[in-house]
Amino acid sequence: ARPLGADDGRAGGLAEVQHVIAVSSCKGGVGKSTVAVNLAYTLAQMGARVGIFDADVYGPSLPTMVSPELRVLKMDPATRMIEPTEYEGVKLVSFGFAGQGSAIMRGPMVSGVIQQLLTTAQWGVLDYLVVDFPPGTGDIQLTLCQTVQFSAAVVVTTPQKLAFVDVAKGIRMFARMAVPCAAVAENMAFFDGDDGRRYRPFGEGSGARIVRDFGLPNLVQFPIVPELSAAGDGGRPLVVAAPTSATAQAFMELGALV
Ligand code: ADP
Repeated sequence: ARPLGADDGRAGGLAEVQHVIAVSSCKGGVGKSTVAVNLAYTLAQMGARVGIFDADVYGPSLPTMVSPELRVLKMDPATRMIEPTEYEGVKLVSFGFAGQGSAIMRGPMVSGVIQQLLTTAQWGVLDYLVVDFPPGTGDIQLTLCQTVQFSAAVVVTTPQKLAFVDVAKGIRMFARMAVPCAAVAENMAFFDGDDGRRYRPFGEGSGARIVRDFGLPNLVQFPIVPELSAAGDGGRPLVVAAPTSATAQAFMELGALV
């Protein structure tokens, strides 16, 4: 991923962040947050200093997927900067840790809240800040792209939702903002049966077509694994709980691309 330059909007708490990675999807429920969180912990396992910013104020997933001891964000009264909470060495900021649950707000207000949370958090020295985007490609996503120059984007989708137009929309949004798409993560691509066979319940081939038709170099497939869901619900990401699993290997593959 491209490191940030001096004029890339790295004001305040983002000043010492090297790479900001966007994890985005066009639709909800495809596993975007699961990918964002496990990617972040994989990068941490690879030796990087990492933070996660959960930019979904309507349905913040980070407080469910990661259980830090301290579940609130503190503000330094002198600097008025927000102190991220931390779990297993990864810094975390989510609207869900701001003590207000999920938001009932109109778009422009949400954009303001996200911008403020992102830029007033004291991230400190980080190699990677992984930003879990809200689903879609609207105003909120554009505001995020205008707030900070992202180094790379990961677009998450599932085989049955691998509608060309949708994935293309996401990629086009990032291209317009001069953010390279590092990879497409095709989630829930298959599962391996007890009979040794690999099943693809949602179809196959679309991922390869995306790569071909859009000239995208990298597609990483993630299997359907109940453990991934259970770990997410249990507040301990799978790559932390089972770092040698096949799924963790797939995340290593993705981690090497950003
Ligand atoms: P999104 O952020 O796109 O809304 P989530 O990451 O919240 O999606 O995932 C939606 C649900 O699907 C969660 O319960 C999650 O644990 C589950 N899930 C995501 N990816 C997988 C997978 N590969 N295998 C099994 N369950 C998954």
